[in-house]
Amino acid sequence: MADGDLDDPQDYGSIVRNNLMKRPGYTPYCGETRCFRRTAWDGAQFRCRCGYRTEFPEAFLVLYRERRSKMLLIERP
Ligand SMILES: [Zn+2]
Repeated sequence: MADGDLDDPQDYGSIVRNNLMKRPGYTPYCGETRCFRRTAWDGAQFRCRCGYRTEFPEAFLVLYRERRSKMLLIERP
């Protein structure tokens, strides 16, 4: 757990998912092999400028959207 992470002991199934759920402002790296940019939230998934888009299942996105709205409040006190 790094500084600023939420104190949430739950395992969401992968390092990326755990970071998404616990680290305010976190976005995954692009999934394309030679692309090292970070993706950005597009309202439904994470998208890279190269065209890559994540495919998180809706069951996870339900949790993430709720958590994201809370984390945005934390970032802007
Ligand atoms: Zn990319």
